[in-house]
Amino acid sequence: MTDRLPGFSTLAVHAGAQPDPTTGARATPIYQTTSFVFNDADHAASLFGLQAFGNIYTRIGNPTNAVLEERVAALEGGAAALAVASGHAAQLVVLQQLMKPGDEVIAARKLYGGSINQFTHAFKAFGWNVAWADPDEIESFERAVTPHTKAIFIESIANPAGSITDIEAIAAVARKAGVPLIVDNTLASPYLIKPIDHGADIVVHSLTKFLGGHGNSLGGIIVDAGTFDWSKDNKYPMLSEPRPEYHGIRIQETFGNFAFAIACRVLGLRDLGPALSPFNAFMILTGIETLPLRMQKHCDNAKAVAEFLSTHPAVSAVNYAGLPGDRYNALQRKYAPKGAGAVFTFSLKGGYDAGVNLVSNLRLFSHLANVGDTRSLVIHPASTTHSQLDDAAKVRSGAAPEVVRLSIGIEDKEDLIADLDQALRA
Ligand SMILES: *Cc1c(COP(=O)(O)O)cnc(C)c1O
Repeated sequence: MTDRLPGFSTLAVHAGAQPDPTTGARATPIYQTTSFVFNDADHAASLFGLQAFGNIYTRIGNPTNAVLEERVAALEGGAAALAVASGHAAQLVVLQQLMKPGDEVIAARKLYGGSINQFTHAFKAFGWNVAWADPDEIESFERAVTPHTKAIFIESIANPAGSITDIEAIAAVARKAGVPLIVDNTLASPYLIKPIDHGADIVVHSLTKFLGGHGNSLGGIIVDAGTFDWSKDNKYPMLSEPRPEYHGIRIQETFGNFAFAIACRVLGLRDLGPALSPFNAFMILTGIETLPLRMQKHCDNAKAVAEFLSTHPAVSAVNYAGLPGDRYNALQRKYAPKGAGAVFTFSLKGGYDAGVNLVSNLRLFSHLANVGDTRSLVIHPASTTHSQLDDAAKVRSGAAPEVVRLSIGIEDKEDLIADLDQALRA
């Protein structure tokens, strides 16, 4: 071994994993168990009091999940991570540590549709208020800051059109406001963008998408950058005040730079309960081993498909940050120089009916509501995910009647282009 710091592809295969100490198994075993035997009564007491690290019960932690946590923390450049059952569970557990009724989170208007629902309806019922800001207008984040603001939430590459967010500019607003910046890095993955390098304090993922990568397992993860001072002004009492359920310890004082990840585990996951199945952790770990190979192919294919569509007579516009004329091209070259991701939208001259016809005539693309699969996926938002909105609201959310969203897979690009070409002619 040398003293070299391992590169991204090496970390994707190895970070967090060792041969199994009992059996020598080289692949990480699936520890399919609910609970773990204590060495003795003192050991049990110290685990429950947070005086020792170790396994108690799979809702709080599991050795397969722990490898996944260490691996994603390494890939994102964070201090620690916590795996949970889904991307939405990650968002819930993060905000539960930060928000009390009456507090506010500033969220980018361009978010995954499910996140808009979660923030608008579910979080509102907890008394958590959302102030929406426009990621294309940084001042709108500054204007939204109030004494009740507890966090800012953005996506690095935003749904549905694959627009690129100026993370550093919004991180500066968060720093000035004294609140953490949370970045949903699902569409980029750490292969394309590492938000912590640009000032993010917390990164969340839907592991369901590119990290797992094969469209077979739900999962989510929270990465703690380890840089935020949670005790300042007692703004985050969950982290700074004595915890009655743990003999009065203060989480930040006791756990230092991974206090936030610990709080998410011992206060969030333990009590809210959205634990990740060790089987899913194993599937997602296997997916992550090939993340760099897949992500580059996703990006190269997406660029080729976007270039093809941009010259097609049936197409009126293509929104792909990897195209030279795109409004996000400069941000893409700064934040995601290896590629602009695999999710983007384009518009059909034939409007709503042309969108419906296209999804019906494609053969290789699957018509469904997901992204980040090895397979290429298509959806016509106006007739599906956004069908309940009126036309003006559809346009505002990037789902105008003529818009089609693609998530480009890792097939041969010539086959994807041929499929789109025959469906556009039909
Ligand atoms: C899918 C998705 C989520 C939600 O993740 P689940 O695993 O489906 O709960 C959140 N953010 C983005 C950007 C997503 O694509």
